[in-house]
Amino acid sequence: MKGIFSVAIDGPAGAGKSTVAKGVAKRLGIVYVDTGAMYRAVGLKTIRLGIPSDDEERVVPILDDTDISLVFSDGLQHILLDGEDVTGLIRTQEVSNAASKVSAIPAVRHKMVKLQQKLAENTSLTMDGRDICMYVLPNAQYKFFVTASPEARTLRRYKELEEKGKLEGMNFNELLLEMAERDKRDSGRDCMPLKKAPDAILIDTTYMDVETSIQTVLNHIGG
Ligand code: C5P
Repeated sequence: MKGIFSVAIDGPAGAGKSTVAKGVAKRLGIVYVDTGAMYRAVGLKTIRLGIPSDDEERVVPILDDTDISLVFSDGLQHILLDGEDVTGLIRTQEVSNAASKVSAIPAVRHKMVKLQQKLAENTSLTMDGRDICMYVLPNAQYKFFVTASPEARTLRRYKELEEKGKLEGMNFNELLLEMAERDKRDSGRDCMPLKKAPDAILIDTTYMDVETSIQTVLNHIGG
């Protein structure tokens, strides 16, 4: 492959898109950008400030004073919120919900999308999110929509949170409900909703292991 190229990957929570995007980036020797981390950092800021994450009138004014940046070391992405590395603080359920709420606010999206588009200008990358194929990188060379059944997605998220000791007392059914709520918010919002782009290749990972999912994407790319 020659020149700068982008691999755009969208899909709902827990579909395995970040695992796939990360794996593909590693195999191709390019950067992986997790856009969800950016919305999570903004969500964390609203929690810290005690502002309801869906209160547009109070969230928008803090945006000018909010600096979100990504740094990469050893191929791993670190997310900085106002200069502080918050990578280890954004994977809780509380932050997931806050991220999903702030991400419905158009001004938040416009700020993040600009940053994401800048990243893709000079670097080959895989970028995952909800709106990458349609809005962030509509001219990406490769586009995928990675999904899985709600039960499979919840089970993966459950195991992930359990491993990290971040279940916060939630059981499977509660997580399933929260996931459904987040899906609904992501697909139902007016501004850049989660939707499969017509030209994105659909990959259903319900019955695929990680390696097969990564290889499926690589096969399409020809890598
Ligand atoms: O992918 P992740 O679960 O980390 O994303 C957290 C939340 O951020 C999602 O539920 C979604 O609401 C939002 N998001 C988004 N657009 C993106 C990436 C994430 O709206 N490109």
